[in-house]
Amino acid sequence: MHETPRLVLIALGLAGLLVLLLNSNPQPIQSTWAPANPGLAAQTRLQTLQGRGMAAADYPQGNPLGVLNTVMTQGYGVGSHAPAATWGAVDLALDGDGDGRADPRASWNQPIYATHSGVITTTANSWPAGNHVWVTNDQYRTGYAHLAEFAVTDGQVVNPGDLIGYMGSSGQSSGPHLDYQIWAWQAGRWVNQNPLDYGVLP
Ligand SMILES: [Zn+2]
Repeated sequence: MHETPRLVLIALGLAGLLVLLLNSNPQPIQSTWAPANPGLAAQTRLQTLQGRGMAAADYPQGNPLGVLNTVMTQGYGVGSHAPAATWGAVDLALDGDGDGRADPRASWNQPIYATHSGVITTTANSWPAGNHVWVTNDQYRTGYAHLAEFAVTDGQVVNPGDLIGYMGSSGQSSGPHLDYQIWAWQAGRWVNQNPLDYGVLP
């Protein structure tokens, strides 16, 4: 009469041992799909930027030509860049011989770089912008006009410093230069910005 409870106890003991053995070994399997600290660096960066409400890469910064000998050939809100609310932009070109003025030979095919992160939209042979690129994210969009050639395609995601095209004179243009625009999403609409406020010229 005492044999049955003893067998049950032995069976329960063996089952418990089996559970312990199985549970002692899951770590190597987990480590193959989950890193030790998944996204720790990314989380820290996001927390730092949350106070400003955006990632640093989303904010247009610096010179889209990436070179110190950049000169501005037409300012913001003047000439064909007026009214600024509609056409606000600066024209940039290169001074290749150090006389402080733009020259076409240095400017043709100068690489042009995204100044922030976003998604690419290209328009070929438009008027007046010629070969035109937009880089757009939730908070900012930048326009790059009169390109000789695109280095990106529609829908491509770029980061600051990524090559997007080459300087040209397509569209309404009298010589190779970059027409550069910045727009900020404010209160439900795109508001034109003065690129000089975003570190365009060194
Ligand atoms: Zn322009």
